[in-house]
Amino acid sequence: MKKIYFTPGPSELYPSVPKHLQKSLQLQIGSISHRSVQFQEIYQTLVEDLKKLLEIPQDYHVFIVGSGTEAMERIIQNCVETYSLHFVNGSFAKRFFMIAAELGKKPALIEVPMGEGFDLQKVTVPKETELICFTQNETSSGVALPVSDIENIAKKYPDKLIAVDIVSSAPYVALNYKLLDIVFFSVQKGFGLPAGLGVMIVSPRAIKKAETLAQKKVNIGSYHSFTTLMHYAKKQQTHETPPVLHMYLLGKVIKDMRKIGIAAIRRETEQKAQLLYDFIDQHDKLFAYVQKKHWRSQTVIVVSVEKIEKDIKKLLAKKGFIIGSGYGANKKTHVRIANFPAHKVQDVKRLIKELKAL
Ligand SMILES: *Cc1c(COP(=O)(O)O)cnc(C)c1O
Repeated sequence: MKKIYFTPGPSELYPSVPKHLQKSLQLQIGSISHRSVQFQEIYQTLVEDLKKLLEIPQDYHVFIVGSGTEAMERIIQNCVETYSLHFVNGSFAKRFFMIAAELGKKPALIEVPMGEGFDLQKVTVPKETELICFTQNETSSGVALPVSDIENIAKKYPDKLIAVDIVSSAPYVALNYKLLDIVFFSVQKGFGLPAGLGVMIVSPRAIKKAETLAQKKVNIGSYHSFTTLMHYAKKQQTHETPPVLHMYLLGKVIKDMRKIGIAAIRRETEQKAQLLYDFIDQHDKLFAYVQKKHWRSQTVIVVSVEKIEKDIKKLLAKKGFIIGSGYGANKKTHVRIANFPAHKVQDVKRLIKELKAL
């Protein structure tokens, strides 16, 4: 039986991936040189199409790294001499904070309990802060921060750099990139590809910061420092031998998404999220973990299942639906359902039908 992965990453592959994978074998993409014109075209098209899909300003850079976690480390190395500030409401935001600590910086954190967001109007950012880090969609808890809240902070503190983790909300989340400096995602969630690629969208201001740090002899890393990434990206190249096949596939999926149109993708995402939340809210034993509606993620739906004695995950798996466990300590008490572009409305309806029948 073919399964449908509603897991929050890796997740269901985007429907066109098998076709593009086949084609890539015919084209022998796995063997081409990363110094070839063919590769330069793959990188350039990927960048151009991503910029169009997400409305990224032309003067921003698009860098390829190995994962979302790597992006966190590179951002701290390249944008922080000493002080970063982290809004922490779950495990991924905590990871970002911990990476800064492990790199020897002095990160500060503003923390709220799992399942909650922040009252950002009340927040004051310490003066010394160089970089403010947000996890826009906290995959561990299913809390999404309203984009307008993040943008208001960016407007209120124009001298601070702003980093935003959109790993599990891209490409759904609509951002005003001009207000932000580093936005990053990895491809095994909303883009519906196998894991192993991270993408960073970087402002000219963030590049300047990295250059300033390098001049001050702060260690900004080596082959994936912003300055090295930029040096090669300007030639549509990478320093190392990159995952060319993976970049090819990402470029193709982005093109397919552009054909559908980002507005349609966003509308459908909201429609599917509403189907799921409406069903859960009406159910007498299932509860949305995030109680405040304006903090509920549209792309990762976290459900409390404590009141149900049966093993929901196992029963659904028998029907071909793979959903995620709760994260960390909530492994048994929550389930997580991803709602990415690869998930069809029809499949969400079928999943709901199976949940009803439990
Ligand atoms: C999955 C995830 C990450 C980590 O990404 P990797 O590609 O696994 O390193 C970071 N942040 C969020 C919000 C995530 O969901």
